[in-house]
Amino acid sequence: MKIVLSLVAFLMPVQMLLAKSHDIPTAADYVIVGVGTAGAVMARELSDDKCTSVVALQVGENLTEVPVIKYSAGALATVLDGTVGPPFYDNGFTVPQPNADDRQLLWAVANPEGGASSINAGAYCRSTKEFNAKWEAAAGPLWSVKRLQKVYKKLENYHGRTDDPSLRGYHGPLEVQQSKAPSTIARKFTKAIIRATGFDYVEDYNDPKTPIGISSKVQYTHHGKNGKYRVSSVNAFLDDDVVTDDGYGKHGRQLRILFDSMALRTIWDGTKAIGVEYILDGESRTVYAEKGIIVCAGLMSSPFLLHSGVGASSLLDSLGIPVVFDNPNVGQGLCDQPSIRMVFSVNPNDFIPNPNELFTQISWLPAVGGDPAVREIRIATASPVAGITLFILDLCQPKSRGSITINSSDPLDPPLVDLGTLTDSRDLDTLQDALQVYVKNINDVLSQKDPSYELLIPPPFILDDSDLVRAFIRETIASNEHFQNHCKMAPLDQGGVVDSRGAVHGVRNLWVADNSVVPCMDGSPMSTGYLVARNIANILKGR
Ligand SMILES: Cc1cc2nc3c(=O)[nH]c(=O)nc-3n(C[C@H](O)[C@H](O)[C@H](O)COP(=O)(O)OP(=O)(O)OC[C@H]3O[C@@H](n4cnc5c(N)ncnc54)[C@H](O)[C@@H]3O)c2cc1C
Repeated sequence: MKIVLSLVAFLMPVQMLLAKSHDIPTAADYVIVGVGTAGAVMARELSDDKCTSVVALQVGENLTEVPVIKYSAGALATVLDGTVGPPFYDNGFTVPQPNADDRQLLWAVANPEGGASSINAGAYCRSTKEFNAKWEAAAGPLWSVKRLQKVYKKLENYHGRTDDPSLRGYHGPLEVQQSKAPSTIARKFTKAIIRATGFDYVEDYNDPKTPIGISSKVQYTHHGKNGKYRVSSVNAFLDDDVVTDDGYGKHGRQLRILFDSMALRTIWDGTKAIGVEYILDGESRTVYAEKGIIVCAGLMSSPFLLHSGVGASSLLDSLGIPVVFDNPNVGQGLCDQPSIRMVFSVNPNDFIPNPNELFTQISWLPAVGGDPAVREIRIATASPVAGITLFILDLCQPKSRGSITINSSDPLDPPLVDLGTLTDSRDLDTLQDALQVYVKNINDVLSQKDPSYELLIPPPFILDDSDLVRAFIRETIASNEHFQNHCKMAPLDQGGVVDSRGAVHGVRNLWVADNSVVPCMDGSPMSTGYLVARNIANILKGR
C-alpha cells in the first residue's frame, strides 16, 4: 500500500491526492508537522508557488478568532492559562529538579494553530549580532550575520521610535509596534532601573549598536479598528487570503491544514522519510510526502524524532522502537530562559487599567560585573491590577542544559522533560548577583522616590543575605517556556541533530525547522522561530 501510494504521488507530484470519501489528503509534496510559529511560515512559503502541494498537521484547533487570542490585551490571560491546559496548552511537570529544591516545574506547549505565537506574551526581540556571529561560526555561511539580518528585515514591518532602513524592515508580514506611551508605573520603573543599574535608556534594543539598556517594549501587534490585535503566525502568514478558516488553501494554493491532527511518527523507506502516521478524530491515518517532511513541532520535535526511530539506539531498543538512525544527541542540550518572579507594591494612584500594558518596560542588562556588551539579564514589569507590579527577571543566556526524552513507545504518552535548572552553578551566581545588586538598588531608588513603591516578594531584607537569596531563587525559579537547542544545528560529532540546511543527520527527506534547532539565544525566542523557518524555506527554495 505504502509503495503504491508513494508511486502515485511520484507520478502526480503537484496534485494533492485526496481520499475522496473523507476529503482528507493522503499525499503531497511536503508534509509539515506542527503549524505553530515556524510551521505557519513553512506552510506559507512552500505553497506560495501554487504548484507545490503541502499538507500541514496541527494537533490543536484554529482559535484565531477567539477574542482572548485575537486581541493583544488577551496576552496576560493566555500566558497565565499555561497552568490550566487545553484548549490553549498541553502541559506537564518536569522530572524533579535537584537544584530547585527537587520541585517539578511546569512546562507547557501551545495547542492551537499558530502555536506559541497565538498565546504568548508577544515581546519582540531579535538575537544580537554577537550571538549571530557565534551561530555563523557553528553553522556556516547559510547562517551568516549578514544573511540573518536580511531575513529579519524581510520578516519585519517595524513601527518603532527609530527610522533606519539599513537595520529595519518596513514591508514584512510581522508587524511590530513599540509601546508609545508607557504608563506612569512603567516610566517610574524605567527611571529607577537606569539610576540603579547605571545603564542608559536605549530607543531600539534591536539595533545591533544598542543591544544593552532600558527601553520600552516592542510587541507583535497591529492597531486595528477595535483596538490592538495580536500578530500571530496565523494572521501574519496564513490569513484569509491564503487559507480558509477550516484549512483549505485559496486562489489555487495547494495547501491543506488538518486540525486536531497529531503526528505520531515518520514512515520510512529504508532511511528515506516518505510519510507521516497521525491521528485525526481518534482515527489513525497516513499521509505520504514526495519531497519530504518538515518537523516544526517546537518542544515536541525531539519526541517526534525519537518515536520515528531517530535517537539513541540504547533508548529506542529498550522501548522496542525500530532504530532508523542512532543519534544520542536527539533531545539533549535543552535550554530555557528561566525566570524569577517578584512583586512590588506601587502607588495605586499611578495605575491606569490598560490590558495592553503588558511588559511595556523592558531592560536588557549584562550580568553584574560581566561583559558590558553581553545580554545576560532581562527585566520586564507588568501592572495588571492596582497596587502591585509583577517584576520578572529572566536569565537570557543560561549555561545550564537539560533534555527531553521519552519513556514509552506510545507517542500519546507525555515526554520526560528535564530542564536541568541551575545545574550549572554560574546561573545561580548570576541570578544571585542580579537580585543582590540590581533588584536591591532598584528597590532603594524607587522607595526613596515614593515609599509606596516597595519590594513585597521577596521581602527586601533577604537581599542582604546571600544564603537567603540563593534559597529564594531555588524555591521560586520557573520555566519561561522558551525551549531551544534540543535538535541542535551542528555537525553530528559536535552534538548536532540537523545540519546547516535543517536536514536531520543520517536520514533523507526529513528536516527540522523551528526553535528546537537554535542555540540558546540572547533575546526573545519567537523571533528566531520565525527566522529559522524563513531561512530554511529559503534554502529549500534555492534562494
Ligand atoms: C506562555 C509563553 C509566553 C512566551 N512569551 C514570549 C514572548 O513574549 N516573546 C518571545 O519571543 N517568545 C515568547 N515565548 C516563546 C516563543 O513563543 C517560542 O519560543 C516560539 O514561538 C516557539 O516556536 P516554534 O515554532 O518552535 O514552536 P511552537 O510555536 O510551539 O509550534 C509548535 C507547533 O507544533 C504543534 N505540535 C506539537 N506536536 C505536534 C504533533 N505531534 N503533531 C501536530 N502538531 C504538533 C503545536 O501545537 C504547535 O502549534 C513564549 C512562550 C510561551 C509558551
